[in-house]
Amino acid sequence: LNPVPSDIEIAKKQKPKDIDVLAEEIGLLPEEVNLYGKKKAKVSLDVLNRLKNVDDSKYVVVTGITPTPLGEGKSTTTIGLAQALGSQLNKNVFACVRQPSQGPTFGIKGGAAGGGYSQVIPMDEFNLHLTGDIHAITAANNLLAAAVDARIFHESTQKDEALYSRLVPQKKGIREFSTIQIRRLEKLGINERDPDKLSPEDRTRFSRLNIDPDLITWQRVMDTNDRFLRKITIGQSPTEKGRERVAQFDISVASEVMAVLALTTSISDMRERLGHMVVATSTTGEPVTADDIGVTGALTVLMRDAIQPNLMQTLEGTPVFVHAGPFANIAHGNSSILADMIALKLAGKFGPDGFVVTEAGFGADIGMEKFFNIKCRRSGLRPHAVVLVATIRAIKMHGGGPTVVAGKPLAKEYSEENLELLEAGFSNPRKQIENAGYFGVPVVFALNRFANDTDSEVETALRLARESGAIDAVCASHWSHGGAGAVDLARSVIKAAESKSNFNFLYPLELGIYEKIETIAKKIYGADGIELLPAAQAKVELYTKQGFGNLPICMAKTHLSLSHQPELKGSPRGFVLPIRDIRVSAGAGFLYPLVGTMSTMPGLPTRPCFYDIDIDPHTLDVTGLF
Ligand code: ADP
Repeated sequence: LNPVPSDIEIAKKQKPKDIDVLAEEIGLLPEEVNLYGKKKAKVSLDVLNRLKNVDDSKYVVVTGITPTPLGEGKSTTTIGLAQALGSQLNKNVFACVRQPSQGPTFGIKGGAAGGGYSQVIPMDEFNLHLTGDIHAITAANNLLAAAVDARIFHESTQKDEALYSRLVPQKKGIREFSTIQIRRLEKLGINERDPDKLSPEDRTRFSRLNIDPDLITWQRVMDTNDRFLRKITIGQSPTEKGRERVAQFDISVASEVMAVLALTTSISDMRERLGHMVVATSTTGEPVTADDIGVTGALTVLMRDAIQPNLMQTLEGTPVFVHAGPFANIAHGNSSILADMIALKLAGKFGPDGFVVTEAGFGADIGMEKFFNIKCRRSGLRPHAVVLVATIRAIKMHGGGPTVVAGKPLAKEYSEENLELLEAGFSNPRKQIENAGYFGVPVVFALNRFANDTDSEVETALRLARESGAIDAVCASHWSHGGAGAVDLARSVIKAAESKSNFNFLYPLELGIYEKIETIAKKIYGADGIELLPAAQAKVELYTKQGFGNLPICMAKTHLSLSHQPELKGSPRGFVLPIRDIRVSAGAGFLYPLVGTMSTMPGLPTRPCFYDIDIDPHTLDVTGLF
């Protein structure tokens, strides 16, 4: 339709097929499908075992140039491309996308189900609770947070023997260590397994974690943009006997539990990783983990269902996995490895020309770099093609067009033809094409067409993209035409995926922490070098000593510029990247250098999206979700 109706109007007009019907179509067995209502299902990891001898389908990652704050259509293109491959070209195809955080849905950004005629449906269910994975993460995260403070409290109020007896109580006259406690004994190198025979020193070593309250790094989380929880004082009730401390809430998707979910490959691997999460440092400088707190089993239980990918569908009935959505500011911003792994088997099951289209958050300098260096390194999966999404609007902004602000009307430079701005701004796509090239994977440049874009602008952008090294450059109109608008893009992707790719990582894990960060900064961002501020320097030494030096790097940098300064557009040169601090996500398995100050709890604007969200009391239809 012209004009294209709102996302929710389009989504509501299309009736999704029942998810059990879709599940059967794509070759899932009834026992592998756990229905959550009629339109969503969780898919059992057993599929991986059943299809272990099936060759994986082709694997395509969708990324983008450095965006404006409005987003340039990566999610929309992921869905549109999957629709084109599936309903237009009859390929077996899966799209894999992230689950959005509820915070931004009611706040500023709106949903993330794609847009226009390229969406995941039902979009209200996609954007709201889905099947409760984020709630499970919140529950697991906060159980651990509560356990940390309670442990400090009990250790400080009890004498050694009493503490030990309470941690390893006698039940019906027998005292035994739990499985999780045995892991702690192993870590401490205590060989004795009979609790009654432990020496008094070992009992104390076992019982006392000696957490330094000032060095707790584990925060509480909730999935609401609640700025007043950015800094709080806890423990103010008299029952806590004066053990007040300053703490904070983060948005749930910033929890390391979410990053673990996204990077895990099985339930036992998830248990292992949850146990390795570092929550604090002891008074003697040792990292304290979830295993030490004894909570790993319980966390895994809370995450038991969340580990299964969620099956939904596009407007054109193509299968979609929606699974995990780690906060791209401080984590890697990619959907789950497990969803990709299962999708690759299901799409590969019917022959060699199946496709999985997965999305990497933010621009290629962040999302794609982490997709390759962190996600693919962990999964062992190798992509066949990169789709780099761009818009004329963003390219013009990089060429010096006026600042683009969410919620404000666009300047006339964006609604009128301006080839000069376009040519000048192409430095950004050119650099991002080069960035994809570092990994040896062919790049298809996808221009996501907006109504105002002129033919000469489109042709110029495509020509420049080809000249910059893209294997192909195509214009796509899937937002206004659905899968039919991305058929050319789909054909190019098929061709690119068949061409030779020569995949490699940007850096080996054995490289020092400093050198790994420097490699990313110089090669991907175009920096002259990096500067470690004192806190970061101290962490390089600490983490190397603690054995975390071999982890991959997950840069926490603005996505609005290739540099650390959001206002620097295009492809900035001549800058040194400052590294303020470095943190570890030992469970998820990466170090994250902080390039600027990263907010881990968004706030609500003066007029948040929730003003428009309502329900029809008769039909129970949700209105106003964009
Ligand atoms: P990203 O994933 O890059 O953040 P999205 O795919 O979420 O971007 O798109 C951002 C917003 O822009 C969505 O509301 C979407 O509906 C809208 N959008 C995307 N492509 C177009 C287009 N070609 N024309 C108009 N609006 C679009």
